[in-house]
Amino acid sequence: MPFEQPLPQALSPSRLQDFQSCPRRFQHASIERRRQPATYATAKGTFVHYVFERLFALPPAERTDTAAREFVPAAETEVLVEPLVSEIGLTTEVRSRLLAETDRIITRYFAMEDPRTVTSEGVEMRLTATVDGVPILGILDRLDRDDDGSLVIVDYKTGALPNRQYDSKTFANAELYAALCEEHFGERPRRIRLLYVTHGESVEREVTGPVLRARRKSAVDAWGKIKRFYDDGHFPATPSTNACRFCAYTELCRADGVPVPSNPRRP
Ligand code: SF4
Repeated sequence: MPFEQPLPQALSPSRLQDFQSCPRRFQHASIERRRQPATYATAKGTFVHYVFERLFALPPAERTDTAAREFVPAAETEVLVEPLVSEIGLTTEVRSRLLAETDRIITRYFAMEDPRTVTSEGVEMRLTATVDGVPILGILDRLDRDDDGSLVIVDYKTGALPNRQYDSKTFANAELYAALCEEHFGERPRRIRLLYVTHGESVEREVTGPVLRARRKSAVDAWGKIKRFYDDGHFPATPSTNACRFCAYTELCRADGVPVPSNPRRP
């Protein structure tokens, strides 16, 4: 059966990751556009990103920890709204926990860097470009210009630290952003910096030609398959403990007869 909905006009790094973890998940999220309910973890990420985005909209000299904390009430008003409130079960206790964790994150962030000295080319930058025939769309948390003049992709992370081996997935999204920047600006970012603000630690990786070529190729391969599955009217399910654990569609898949592993839990 062909899909009634159109094929997305562009692929974001996170949608590409959806597809690579399980094509059926991509079908539900990006073709059928079924909502993925918020979790406490995703709500915290949105909340903290809101605060940092507003902080970096200020002139550099005004980016203080006091200023960051002054954006928290606005984040409550703007972010903690329906349907997110119902989806995460926002009780008074949950709200207090979120505010306490955000306060700790602000403290840890200011121990990591001084935003008054950061030169940023853009914050929450929406970029689109066609990379080797694949339409890519991405929103960068920050694109900085380091003291040595090089571009750096900066991404805030509110989840767990990666293990010390930094498996390739840790940087996969940001490396595709680097390919997007190279295409969009004609300049290749030199580094990727992931700020694990919950833990006050950052990890960095140089952007190299071979890695970018691999990311581009992987996007080309995935886009070819997406178009084929779309024309077939069917994206195969590839259930696994890892893929299903953070998936919003477990019940839907089970109802369709997909053997989803037991106890997949969303954060
Ligand atoms: S529940 Fe598992 S099989 Fe179903 S879409 Fe999600 S990841 Fe794929």
